[in-house]
This record gives sequence, C-alpha cells and structure tokens, in this order.
Amino acid sequence: MQHLRSSFWIGLYFIVAVAPLLAMLVEPPPGRGFWREFAVGIGFAGLSMMGLQFFLTGRFRSFTAPYGIDVVYHFHRLISLIAFAFLALHVGALLLASPELLLLLRPASAPAWMVTGVIGFLAFVVVIVTSLFRLKLGLSYEVWRAVHGYLSVAAVLLGVVHIMGVDYYTGSPVKRGLWLVMGAAWLLALVHVRVVKSFLQLQRPYTVAEVTPEQGRSWTLRLRPVGHDGIDFQAGQFAWLTLGKTPFTLREHPFSFASSAMERGEVRLTIKELGDFTSRIGDTAVGTRAYLDGPYGSFTIDGNRAPGFCFIAGGVGITPIMSILRTMADRHDRRPVLLLYGSKKWEEVTFREELEELKQRLRLELVHVLEEPPPRWTGECGLITAELMGRYLPENRMDLEYFICGPGPMQQGMRWAVARLGLPPHKINSESFNFV
Ligand SMILES: Cc1cc2nc3c(=O)[nH]c(=O)nc-3n(C[C@H](O)[C@H](O)[C@H](O)COP(=O)(O)OP(=O)(O)OC[C@H]3O[C@@H](n4cnc5c(N)ncnc54)[C@H](O)[C@@H]3O)c2cc1C
Repeated sequence: MQHLRSSFWIGLYFIVAVAPLLAMLVEPPPGRGFWREFAVGIGFAGLSMMGLQFFLTGRFRSFTAPYGIDVVYHFHRLISLIAFAFLALHVGALLLASPELLLLLRPASAPAWMVTGVIGFLAFVVVIVTSLFRLKLGLSYEVWRAVHGYLSVAAVLLGVVHIMGVDYYTGSPVKRGLWLVMGAAWLLALVHVRVVKSFLQLQRPYTVAEVTPEQGRSWTLRLRPVGHDGIDFQAGQFAWLTLGKTPFTLREHPFSFASSAMERGEVRLTIKELGDFTSRIGDTAVGTRAYLDGPYGSFTIDGNRAPGFCFIAGGVGITPIMSILRTMADRHDRRPVLLLYGSKKWEEVTFREELEELKQRLRLELVHVLEEPPPRWTGECGLITAELMGRYLPENRMDLEYFICGPGPMQQGMRWAVARLGLPPHKINSESFNFV
C-alpha cells in the first residue's frame, strides 16, 4: 500500500511537471527552429517544476507520509537545482538561437513580457544562491527563510506572467487555462502552509506548563493543551513549534517529541541551545502561549515488526529515540534494544539517569561512547564506528531495524559504517536535524 501511494505521488508529480510540454504539442503554432522551440519547452518544464516546489514544502501529510518529510525536503533541494538548470538553459538556448532578443532588453523600450522574464529569472538566481551559500553569506535562518519564501512566490508569478505575455504557445483558452490553474494551485499550496495550517493551530493552542533544565545545555518544555485534548503522534515524529501570541509567523522551529506517545494530553520537547531561538529557550516563561504544527516524519517504529532495534544517537539526536524508548516501556514492548549513544563529555549526556532507569523496563543494552571521557572511564571512547558497532551487534543483526539520529558528520560516518557492515539499506532509518 505504501509503495502504491509513493508511486502514485511520483507519477502525479511527473505528469504535472510535463503537462505544459504536452500542451505545447496540441495545435502547435508554426515552428521557429529547433533551438528556439527547445528553449521554450525546457523553460516550460523548469517553471512547472519550480511551481511544484510549493507542494513539496506545503506539509501535506498524505503526500509526505510515504517518504518522510526530510526525504521530501531533500528532493525539493535537488529538484530545484534541476529546475533552475532548465531555466538557465531556456535563457542560454534562446539567446543562442535568437541573439536579436538581446535588443529587446533596452530598459526604455523592453516589452513587459521581457521585463517579467528577466526579473523572474534573477529572483530565481537569488533564491538558489542564498540557499546554496546561506552560511557563507552569513544569513540567519530566519532572514534566509523570508527571502526564500517571498522571492520564490514573486519569481514563479513573474514566470507565469512572462509566458502569458509572450503568448506564443498559450494562444488557445485551454492552454492559457492550464497555466492559470497551475499558478492558482501553486498559490493555494502556499496558502495551505502559511494560512490554513496557522489557522488550525490557532484553534488548538498550548501553554508552556514547565521548563526544566537537562544535561547537555538542553531544556525540556512541557506543553499543556488549552481547550483540546492534545496531539496524537507516533514516537519519533516531530512538530513545528511557535512560541508567542500568534501562529501566523515565519518564526517556527522543528522539534521532535521527546515524551511517550502513550501519554495523553501534555507533550514534552527537549531543546538544545544552539542559535538565536534555542539559546533563549531556557528563559521561556511558564504560561507562554505555544502552537504545534504536526506531527510529521517517518522516523518511527510504529507498525514495524522487526525482532529488535538498534538505535544510534549523537547529542540531542537522542530526543526522538527517547520518545521511542519511553513509548516502548509504556507499551511493555519486550523486544531487545541496543542503544549506541555518542556524546562529547559525560556531563553533557542528556537523559543519562532516565536511560539507566529504562533498563529496568526494557530489554535495553545501553552503550555510551564519549569523545572526551573523564579520567578512569572504562567505557567506549571516540566516535561510533563500524568496528565498535560490530562488537555490540547481535548475531541476528541483519534482521534488526536501525534508527540513526545525530549531527551531520555522524550521519555521514554511519552511512559508511552501515555499508561496511553490509547491513540491509532498507532497514536503516535516519533523521536529519538539518533541512537546510
Ligand atoms: C526534524 C527535526 C527535528 C528536530 N528535533 C530537535 C529536537 O528534538 N531538539 C533540538 O534541540 N533540536 C531539534 N532540531 C533542530 C532544531 O530545529 C534547530 O536546532 C533549531 O531550529 C535551531 O534554531 P536556532 O534559531 O536556535 O538556530 P539557528 O542558528 O538559527 O539555526 C541552526 C540550524 O538549525 C536549522 N534551523 C533553524 N531554524 C530552523 C527552522 N525554522 N526550520 C528548520 N530548520 C531550522 C538550520 O539548519 C540552521 O542552520 C530538529 C530539527 C529537525 C529538522
């Protein structure tokens, strides 16, 4: 069923992306040479793919569920580059085929369709460059996100106006209608994530009931639902958190649920101090209004019949795994669990006491791996490697399901380790805390 759903969405994506190309073939106007028509076709496909990005990032649960939202965001990044390459090819091939078009660029006399095309393309250039080099350009996540959102909308709309203005392949009402419907659908996807979702959150507010310090410069926020019965999530999933009076804001951040999915009502999020939002999380006043958009993600053991699990956590990557362990304990799930937990120092090991306690309620083998161990430490040191994993994995390692959550370098290291150990790729689940 899951395979069917994922194939359906991929098929639909492909059909919509090439729909404008297919429409070109219906009652085509006289040809103007291969390269000019190639330029138009590739431009249509590029713009159509760019417009579809609003669906990819629109947080439609039925669409993201078969893949996991992080995979969808990864696809969004890759496909945007391909779409941008198509648009660049459109410009390049057009100028090659018809260099006289350059004459139309004179500011005083440039036709509106040319102006919209050029400005739209430049907006795409800014969107792509700021996304690829955000950190090098010193842009904060919030500034980047605002630039990314507003310029993407402007660029796509200008693209549609450009096509309508050129009016070569959009002569018939059906073809014009196709672009108008597609443009409207892209905008609706945006309205869905920015307006509809915020409105739904407004109906289901939370209040911060408790803020507790944790080891490892982290804080746990306990959120109590106000006037509703809370959120139904699967252990390992996450939600976008907004703190403050209104959910109609771009200042929202994704955090995994840390509490057991079996607890009804209140939820807990454990947040590590990192940047401008998280470094002030410990100052959040009890009683602050909060909103959650979720749950999202497929980093979960729900419905998984594996005979046992191996969890690999690095730093604050322990949070979704903690939720899974707490849930397993509440469900009296007695399947064996191996947890390899990498931290820098012993003092920074988040949840270390509770993990010890969980050993009483779970068949849990817990292995701490410290980068900077204290004197007389007899446990594992350094990084989690294939060799270390090999020493702890049981004989039925091929049957286990693996869940990896940690910083980027650790995820990369684990990909190598998993390949070296020959573990089946379809049994590896990983959660990245970096969408961008
Ligand atoms: C699926 C998922 C689950 C996560 N779960 C947890 C968790 O349980 N506990 C925890 O401490 N952290 C978690 N994070 C990471 C957390 O979202 C970031 O640390 C936080 O948003 C950083 O915000 P900042 O303003 O403090 O830092 P910044 O310095 O502004 O950002 C640091 C990095 O965090 C990412 N980031 C920042 N803001 C956002 C945003 N609004 N949306 C997406 N990414 C953003 C960017 O990659 C950025 O480079 C999770 C991230 C993801 C994607």
